[in-house]
Amino acid sequence: MFNPQSSESSMLTSRETLLSTLETLPDALFVVDDATTIVYANASAQTMLGASREQFLGSPFWRSAPQLVSPSLYQAVLKTRQTQEPTEVEYWSPITQTRLHVQLAPTMGGLTLQFHEVRTSTRRQEMVPLSEHLYADILETISDRLVILTPDGMVLTISQRPLEDAHLRREEVVGKPFTETPWWSYAPPVQQQLRAAIEQASRSEIVHFETRIRPQEGWYLDLAVTMTPHLNADRQVEYLIYTGLDITARKRAEEGLRVLIDTIPQFVWMMRPDGSCEYSNQRWCDSTNMTSEQAQGDGWLQAIHPDDQQRVLERWQYAVQTGRPYEAEQRLRHGTTGEYRWFLVRGAPYRDDQGTILKWFGTATDIDEQKQAEQRIKASEQNWRVLAETLPQLVWTTQPDGRVDYCNQRYCDLTQADFEQIRDYGWRQFLHPEDAEHTLALRQQSLATGELFENECRIRDGRTGEYRWFLARALPVRDATGQILKWFGTCTDIEEQKQAEQQLKTSEQNFRTLAEMVPQLVWTMWPDGRLDYTNQRYRDVTQANLTLEGDDIWRQFVHPEDIERTLAIRHQLLRIGEIYENEYRLKDGRTGEYRWYLTRALPVRDEAGQIIKWFGTGTDIDDQKRVEEALRQSQEQASILMNSSIIGIHIIEGEQIVDANDTFLRMTGYTREDLHEGRMNWMHMTPPEYLARTQQAQQELATQQSMTPYEKEYVCKDSSRLPVVVGRVVLQHHPLQAIGFVLDNSARKELEQRKDDFISMAGHELRNPLTALKMQTSLLHRQLVKQGLQAPALSSMQTQINKITRLVEDLLDVSKIQAGRLEYRQESVDLDALLREIVDTMQQTNPSHTILVHGTAEVSLLGDRDRLGQVFTNLLSNAIKYSPGAEAVEMKLSTSKDAVVVQVQDHGLGIPRELHDKIFDRFYRVTDPKQKAIPGLGMGLHIVAEIVRHHGGTLMVESEVGKGSTFQVTLPKKRDG
Ligand code: ADP
Repeated sequence: MFNPQSSESSMLTSRETLLSTLETLPDALFVVDDATTIVYANASAQTMLGASREQFLGSPFWRSAPQLVSPSLYQAVLKTRQTQEPTEVEYWSPITQTRLHVQLAPTMGGLTLQFHEVRTSTRRQEMVPLSEHLYADILETISDRLVILTPDGMVLTISQRPLEDAHLRREEVVGKPFTETPWWSYAPPVQQQLRAAIEQASRSEIVHFETRIRPQEGWYLDLAVTMTPHLNADRQVEYLIYTGLDITARKRAEEGLRVLIDTIPQFVWMMRPDGSCEYSNQRWCDSTNMTSEQAQGDGWLQAIHPDDQQRVLERWQYAVQTGRPYEAEQRLRHGTTGEYRWFLVRGAPYRDDQGTILKWFGTATDIDEQKQAEQRIKASEQNWRVLAETLPQLVWTTQPDGRVDYCNQRYCDLTQADFEQIRDYGWRQFLHPEDAEHTLALRQQSLATGELFENECRIRDGRTGEYRWFLARALPVRDATGQILKWFGTCTDIEEQKQAEQQLKTSEQNFRTLAEMVPQLVWTMWPDGRLDYTNQRYRDVTQANLTLEGDDIWRQFVHPEDIERTLAIRHQLLRIGEIYENEYRLKDGRTGEYRWYLTRALPVRDEAGQIIKWFGTGTDIDDQKRVEEALRQSQEQASILMNSSIIGIHIIEGEQIVDANDTFLRMTGYTREDLHEGRMNWMHMTPPEYLARTQQAQQELATQQSMTPYEKEYVCKDSSRLPVVVGRVVLQHHPLQAIGFVLDNSARKELEQRKDDFISMAGHELRNPLTALKMQTSLLHRQLVKQGLQAPALSSMQTQINKITRLVEDLLDVSKIQAGRLEYRQESVDLDALLREIVDTMQQTNPSHTILVHGTAEVSLLGDRDRLGQVFTNLLSNAIKYSPGAEAVEMKLSTSKDAVVVQVQDHGLGIPRELHDKIFDRFYRVTDPKQKAIPGLGMGLHIVAEIVRHHGGTLMVESEVGKGSTFQVTLPKKRDG
């Protein structure tokens, strides 16, 4: 049964039916889309708008139907859209002068609005809410220009006054963007100003601005506009309320004022409530070389010193935001000279009756000179502060009433407090409790009288917790009228001074104590010479009356022979102030005896060099004087001795003789001048053959501090030789000095020479008759033997003659040795054979002892066989001779690589150790009675030693008294070739 075609046609039919129904509706009906564009309007709607459908279909509802526009309707449209629920609204249209009841219903993509004109019966009129009448009345009668706008700036309603201004009907304006209305559209900047205000207000801000509109050609109105947003329950902007207040008259007055202002010689400016510059007067422009336009907005900032700009801007913005008066000192640039001058700039807001700021007015006053003066004061203040901070004292200032208003860093450092703790009367806490009362009283007094404050007090050093002494001083500074402006004070650390004072006191006490204890006379004296203090000893010793005037005091006890000299020295030294030193005899008042005293006095000076006092002592030097005298005498004696003619004395330093007595000079033929000019060098004065011995002696001196006197010769100035005996001892070490004595040895030497000559002569003289005697005796012996006669006496005679012969030989040998003329043969010697022969002979002639031979030499030597034989014969004969009680003597032979050693040992008397060297000397014999009893001449060992030495060997002795002796001969082996 269902027929789609028929269904389509039936739908068409129903739509047409609906449309014709709508067309017949007595109420005006509009269908609008979401953009409030009219998509449909019925016939009644056309009638209501007084226009054909074509004229408004597809056009915005509000623009096409201004007579229907009202805030209530606008609100209802928004509500229906939001809720998608049908809404009703009833309002009075000032254009149609009718009351309209509107039913709104949502549709797909829009809504329907059905307008029903409510017939105004009196009854119903009464039912209209009073507020609505009021509203209508306000719109008609209000003198202000009032417009209600949608948030995007469309006029919803407008009061009568602006319409009258422009000769416009309401419907010509309602539903249109406000910016496009004739008041604003005459000038794009003004339009722009309004557009900006609408935008700002639609962001829920209240906007104020002043503007100039043109209601009619050739007529302008100045308005103060306020744009207030109206918020709904959700705090969203529902519509904007625009009010415009006619301020034309004020503006005119302002302009007049501006002309006036331009003529005054001060800088005057005017700012908008937002802080931008609106106007600055001619004077300002002239000075800054900017036009009023250039100063507009933020332009004025350019005239301000770059260093001040930030500060000025911040302060100005603060004033604008808070509405508080503006005041700042700032530098403004002079446009032509480029110089900056200081200005005091003041600004105050000008408000309307509601307190809203309409404008800022301000002036700028040239304060450059004042400022510079201020800066000079500041600089000097700064200088003063710098000075105060560098001073080594505590520096402070106080108000005239005594409250501390400044202290330097040093003050804080000392007390370890910050200024807040010191300020006003805080400083009192750092005072020593014992000093507080006194100090405060003094300070109070000086504050009252305006006189110098000066006080010594202790202040606590916060770093150590200890108190230090300070000298506090303060002086007032007064103005021209004598009024005290300030007190300037310092505290100087006098701790050290105080301590020094204390120390001085103590040291004075110490001095007194000491002075009483020392064994000297102690006194102090004023610079003019008057006695100040004397110790007890002084008074005891002198027994003087110390109250006497002038020199009379001294005359009491100084020896008459010393007094004038003493007084003269005293007077002179008091005048020139140098150390005083004098020796004089002083009468001991107790005994009447004079004793020598050494007086010394020292001036003590102050810092300025002025003598404060003399300190003096008198020391008993009488004993010392006596010792000195004794010393002087002994020195004199020494000098006499030194210059006696017996001993030559010299002092040497290095090789140089640096001093010598006359005797030495006479002995050597040198003069004193030679001595002083350094021409006496003892090494040079030593002949070459004595150099070795001299150096050995000198070595001994260096190690033993003295040398054993030895014999030598000096070459005298005339090149002659002087035999001397020299001995030296060390006098001082650095440099090494030695004093030496020199004995003239020439007489002894001469005597020795004569003795040697005699021995030699006697030897020779004895030898010839002996030789003859010996020959004749043996001749006689042979003859007697031939005759068969025994002659024992002759035999013993021969033995004696042999002895004498040997003695004489020895004598001759000794004198040859002495003269260096002993002769040697050079031959090969079989030592074993030689020794055997000697031992055999010795054994025969000495049956008392057995000669034991150990070992062999097995070596031949190069030398003089007889002389070598002489060596061993001598040693064996001594061994036998000096061991009278022994039975045997021994001979030991041994050889090493280079040498042969022969030891001859006995068990006899022995030789004291200290004589071991001496026994080899010519004619030396041990004087011990036992030894002395054994005959001998002290020549044997001397000859032995000489022969061994000649053969390049050594001779050594080991011996102990009572035990025996061993003589050891070491001879070098013969070398091949
Ligand atoms: P003299 O002819 O007196 O023996 P020498 O020159 O031989 O002279 O000896 C010197 C001194 O040395 C002797 O007087 C003696 O006192 C001492 N003397 C030498 N040999 C020995 C010895 N073997 N024992 C002890 N004394 C000796």
